[in-house]
Amino acid sequence: MTTTTASSTAAAGTADLPVVAHWIAGAPTSGAGQRRGDVYDPATGKVTKQVALAEQQDVQDAVAAAKAAFPSWRDTSLARRTAVLFAFRELLNARKGELAEIITAEHGKVVSDALGEVSRGQEVVELACGINHLLKGGMSENASTKVDVYSIRQPLGVVSIISPFNFPAMVPMWFFPLAIAAGNTVVLKPSEKDPSAALFIAQLWKDAGLPDGVFNVLHGDKVAVDGLLRHPDVASVSFVGSTPIAKYVYETGTAHGKRVQALGGAKNHMLVLPDADLDLAADAAVNAGFGSAGERCMAVSALVAVDSIADELIAKISERVATLRTGDGRKGADMGPLVTGAHRDKVAGYVDAGVAEGAELVIDGRQVVPDAQDDQAAADGFWLGPTLFDKVGTGMSIYTEEIFGPVLSVLRVSGYDEGLDLINANRYGNGVAIFTNDGGAARKFRNEVQVGMIGVNVPVPVPVAYYSFGGWKQSLFGDTHAHGTEGVHFFTRGKVVTERWLDPSHGGLNLGFPQND
Ligand code: NAD
Repeated sequence: MTTTTASSTAAAGTADLPVVAHWIAGAPTSGAGQRRGDVYDPATGKVTKQVALAEQQDVQDAVAAAKAAFPSWRDTSLARRTAVLFAFRELLNARKGELAEIITAEHGKVVSDALGEVSRGQEVVELACGINHLLKGGMSENASTKVDVYSIRQPLGVVSIISPFNFPAMVPMWFFPLAIAAGNTVVLKPSEKDPSAALFIAQLWKDAGLPDGVFNVLHGDKVAVDGLLRHPDVASVSFVGSTPIAKYVYETGTAHGKRVQALGGAKNHMLVLPDADLDLAADAAVNAGFGSAGERCMAVSALVAVDSIADELIAKISERVATLRTGDGRKGADMGPLVTGAHRDKVAGYVDAGVAEGAELVIDGRQVVPDAQDDQAAADGFWLGPTLFDKVGTGMSIYTEEIFGPVLSVLRVSGYDEGLDLINANRYGNGVAIFTNDGGAARKFRNEVQVGMIGVNVPVPVPVAYYSFGGWKQSLFGDTHAHGTEGVHFFTRGKVVTERWLDPSHGGLNLGFPQND
C-alpha cells in the first residue's frame, strides 16, 4: 500500500524522510504547497516522517474533488452504498493490526490501546452498515382527505471533519462512516502530529470500492482549517480538539453559514463514595487516569474522594501504579510516551506548578525510568510516568486546566453533596463517573450531575456507537453529539412532503390558508 509520496522540497536534514501526502480524488498527492511538518516517533524522540501542510490551493482541490463526487454518490442506491460500507468494514477488521501499529509509531500509545481505538471506531462503521434503517422517514396516509404526508432525510453535500491527535483513527470514524453512508462526500483534516492513519484508511476505502473523491484527506494546520471553515462549498464541520479551538471553529464555521458540531476539552471527575468497592475503584482510577498516558478526552483526571476513605484509596492506587511499566508501546509496556516533546514539557510544567501551589505529590512521574528501545531512546523519548497528587484545591492550575497527561489529582470532600457541587462548578462537562454500591445515590447523581456522559462503576463511559457521544458546557459547542441517531441527524437534512394525486373532486378555488379535513 502506498501511503506516502516522495518530496523534493523537504528541509535540510529531512530530505530522505518520507512525506505523508494528502489524499485527493482517490490518490495521494504531495500538494501545491512547500510547507512540511515533522512527525515524530514519541518513543525515540526522532523525526521519522514529514507531513505535507496544505495551502489554499490544496483546500480548493480537496473540496472540488468532494464536490464533484457528490452528485453521483448521493444518487447511488442505499443497496450499493451499504455494499461498500460492508466491504470497508471487512478490510478494516482484517487490517486493524497494521493500523494500530501505524498509530503507535506516531502517537506513542501502546499497541493494545491503539487496537482498542480502532475497534471502537469500527463499531461506528458497523452502525453505518445499517444506514438504510437509520434513514427511514415517517409517513402518514390520509393526513387530510386523500392527502399523504411523509418525511425524508437527504445528505448535506461536502462535509468536513477536523480531528485531534489523540485518536487518529477512532475520532474520524465517529463521523465519516455515517456521513458517507448517508450520501455525503468528505474532506478529513487529521492532526498533523499523527497523520498516517488517515491515509491508510483512505486506501482501505478505495480498496472497498468507494468512488474517488468521496473520501479525501487534507493534511495541515490552521491554514487548512481556516480554508475549510470559510469555503462556500463546505456544508458542515465536525470538529474535535481543545476548547479554545473548538470555540473558534464553532464561531467561525457558523458565521460562514455552516452546520457545526465542535467537541472540546475535558476535566473528567470520578466520585468515590465510602460504600464503594475500593479495589474496583482503585483499578478504575489507574486505568482511566493513566491509560493512553492520560491523553484521552474521557480520561479521569480529578478523583473526588470522600475524606473517610481517601487515605485507603490513595494507598491502593499507589500500590497499583508501582506495578506499571512506562515504555515503548511496541514492547508490551502499560503506558507509552507523550505525543511530542513540547507536550511532555507542558505536562511536566503542570507537575512543577502543582508542587509550587501546595498540592501533595504522592507519585512523581518526572522520575520515571522508561523501558525504551535503547539508552538513546530512553534519553530522547517523550517520557513522563504516572503522577499522583493528593490534597488538590479547586483553585490550583492542576485542577482548573486540562493537563492531558498522566497526572491524577485527588480532591477530598466531606460527602456526596460537596462532591456533586464541586463537579457541577467545573466549566467542562464531558464525562464523569461515580463509584458506589448505593443504587439510590447513583440514581440521584445521574439525575443531578451536569455532564454529558456518565459512568456508574464504569470509569471511561464512552457510549456505544448506537448512542451519541458528546459533553455539556465547554466540552461541546453546537447541539448535536457524534454518532448514534444524532450523528445521522447531523449529516442529513429533513424534508417533509405533502402529496395529493389529483382527481376531479379537488377542483375549485380557495384562497384561505390550507386546512386539513
Ligand atoms: P487541538 O485543538 O490542538 O487540535 C485539534 C485540531 O485543530 C487539529 O486538527 C489541529 O491541526 C487543529 N488546530 C490546532 N490549532 C488550530 C488553530 N489555531 N486554528 C485552527 N485549527 C487548529 O487538539 P489536540 O491537541 O490535537 O487534541 C487534544 C484535545 O482534544 C484535548 O483538549 C482533548 O480533550 C480534546 N479532545 C476532545 C474530545 C471530545 O470528544 N470532546 C475527544 C478527543 C480529544
